[in-house]
This record gives sequence, structure tokens and C-alpha cells, in this order.
Amino acid sequence: MKFSATLFLATLAAPLLGATASPLHEAVALKVDADYPALLAFYTDLHLHPELSLMEEKTSAKVAAELRAAGFEVTEKFGGFGVVAVLKNGPGPVLLVRSDLDGLPVLEDTALPYASTVRTKDLTGREVPVMHACGHDIHMTVLVGTARILGGLKERWSGTLVLIGQPAEERGVGARAMLQAGLYRQFPKPDFAIALHDNAALATGTVGIVEGFSWANVDTAEITVRGVGGHGAYPHLTKDPVVLAARIVLALQTIVSRETRPLEPAVVTVGSIHGGTKSNIIPDEVKLQLTLRSYSEGVRQHTIEAVKRICRGEAIAAGVPEDLFPVVNVIDAEFTPATYNDPALTRRIRAGLAGSLGSDNVKVVDPEMGGEDFGQFARTVEKVPICMFRLGAVAPEKIAESERTGVPLPSLHSSKFAPVPEPTIKTGITAMTAVALDLLAKK
Ligand SMILES: [Zn+2]
Ligand SMILES: [Zn+2]
Repeated sequence: MKFSATLFLATLAAPLLGATASPLHEAVALKVDADYPALLAFYTDLHLHPELSLMEEKTSAKVAAELRAAGFEVTEKFGGFGVVAVLKNGPGPVLLVRSDLDGLPVLEDTALPYASTVRTKDLTGREVPVMHACGHDIHMTVLVGTARILGGLKERWSGTLVLIGQPAEERGVGARAMLQAGLYRQFPKPDFAIALHDNAALATGTVGIVEGFSWANVDTAEITVRGVGGHGAYPHLTKDPVVLAARIVLALQTIVSRETRPLEPAVVTVGSIHGGTKSNIIPDEVKLQLTLRSYSEGVRQHTIEAVKRICRGEAIAAGVPEDLFPVVNVIDAEFTPATYNDPALTRRIRAGLAGSLGSDNVKVVDPEMGGEDFGQFARTVEKVPICMFRLGAVAPEKIAESERTGVPLPSLHSSKFAPVPEPTIKTGITAMTAVALDLLAKK
């Protein structure tokens, strides 16, 4: 289907004023329009100059400068390159709004005039291309746009805003670093924490929301399958770790299909298998790398234990001596807990979004097994209710074309992922502002 120009323009304009537009919504919409040219320049600058996780030095400084200019008291380099911006505006709740800061080692292939050509050395010293392939530049722009509006509308809300720029989301360590540095002790403790993430399947102008589990627990495991190597012509004198690794990979598939309750989500993926050097040599070991996904803690623990049990059982079946049983290493430092959108907070946010964007533009979407370290903000003794919603970033005609041709849209992290800045950024700011004005409404 081809969109007519009029229909397309109407689609662009409509989301910014919902059917129930109030004078406040109109005031916000006018301010969003007025600020947009400067925000677009901010966005394209961020897009042109992405930085890798744990290296967000210039990005964090840019975000900090904008938040300071919007009237916030800003602390930099908190938990790495974290930014914390506080605006106290009378009695009322404390609302934390989070953006992430980092890009990814991806060679941009979007043909955009502001495509990144950045190359840099990663933490291991290897030169890599860098791209904002997850759209964190959209998140930062929305954060700054929201700060400008709320800083200029102080008479319309009461409470405290804590806006944060979080480093190293893509490595799953940045939220934890900011919390461990004392985010909830050195700054006002939030009553709610919210965030958005751009989405590579939802139409621009719309948002998506999930109540309860939205993103999965993510565990990374490495398995070293050991054997007794030798000549490929004399297998009877060896304990072949290639065959054992192959058996283990297949047996691991039964954790989800045979051991996990069918209504409980779980994923076991072996994403990497490496062993051996030559056709006629049986090696001493094979290395596997796994990602394990779940929602509940029970399924998570069962999956980890089952991986260990299967490795041990298959080694026994292969006759490998006990001192050479597989070594399973679940990397604690890379664990990302599931993001659980607090149901009461999510319902309230959904109603606020519908009032501001129009209920047709607020979609109830499916939970996914991707990971997001935003879930960490709920996993402290303070038990802060959190909600992360999704921001549509794809032109509707691209979605229609993909449905017609069957060719999938570029996903997040793809070298071809190119969010449409307008109205995605405007919708994000309108949505985030509406949520903040509702949660910090004057009594
Ligand atoms: Zn990402
Ligand atoms: Zn992301």
C-alpha cells in the first residue's frame, strides 16, 4: 500500500495532540515544536559522535550541559560517566527519569546524512566502528527535551525530578554502577523510576506498553568442554571433546522443551562454539558461549542448574575422567535482571499517555526476551516501582512495505537501524512530559 502525502502528513501531526487535548497538552505541544530545531541539532550531533560503553566521556558532558542549562543541579562522573540532574520544586514525590548514553561497535550502513563514521579503540585496544544502533541518542534527546519543558513549567507540577544519564547499558553494568555509587542515598530517593526505549517495529507517533515482565533476565555462561586429544585416525585412544560438545548443545535444548513449564518463558541459546585446529587432530577442549533468558527467578535458577547437570551427565556418558568434566562459568558481573513494570504504575502511565497522545497511539505490546539493565533500578532494598515503555521509531510506510514484501525491518543493533527523528523525538518528549506532569501533579 502506498501512503498519499496528505495521509502521511496527517499521521505525523495527529499524535502530538490527542483527541482529549487540554490547554496544558496544547502548551506542551507548542513548546515541543518551538524546541524541536535545537533538539534535532543536539540529536544529530550525538548520532554523529557515538561513544562505546564505559567511554561516554563527551556524550555525558553534552547531556550534563543541556540539563544544567534547563535549570537542574547536575553531578557528573557518578558511577563512571553517569550524570545526575536534580530539580527540586516544592513538596511532592520524587520521580527518576533515565536515559542511557552508550553506542555500539557497529559499522553504520544507513546512508543518513548524519551517519556515524566514528572508529575508536575498544576496551581491549581493538579498533572498531561505533554507531548509535540502539537509539540511545533518541533517549538522550527526549530526556533533554523533557527537562526543558518541565524546567519551564514549574508552576504546573510539584515535587522533585531526578534525571539521569546512565552509562554502559549495552554491557549491563551502568545501572548497577550508579546504584552502587549511592544514587538512592546521595540524591533524593525516587518514589517512581521511568524510562523509554525506542522500538524498531512500532510506528513513529505511537508508544507501546507492557504491564509486568517486559524484558528478560539475561545470564551469560561459558562452558569449557574438556577431553583427551589425539590423532584423528585413532579416536579410540581419545576422549573427543568435539563430539561431547555437540551432544551437550543438543541436550541443552531439552531444558526449555522438556524441563520448563510450557507457560513459563525461557531461552537457551548457544551462540558460539569453538574448538580444534585441523581436520586430523582431536583437540583437548571446545569452548561454548551461551545466553540464558527467563523472567522468573525460579526458571532462571533451574536453567543454570540444568546446564551444569547436563554438562556433567554428558561427560559421564562419554567416559571423560572426573577431573576433566566440563567447567561451567556463569558470569555474575554480566547478569541483567528482568525488567518488571510495576502494574499499578504502568496502568497509571498508560492512562496518562492515552490522555496526551490519544488512546489509538498507545499500544499494548508483547513482552520480549531482550535484556535491559533498567530493571536494576527496582532491584534494591528501596523497591522503587519502575516502568519502561517503548517509543515507536519507524515510518508507517516502512512498516506497510515490510508487511507487503515480507522483508523484516532492521532491528535494534542493526547497522541499518535508522529511527525517524520526527515525530519520534516529539512523541517521546510529549509522552515523557505527560507522565511526569501526572506523577508530579499538584495536589
Ligand atoms: Zn541495545
Ligand atoms: Zn538500548
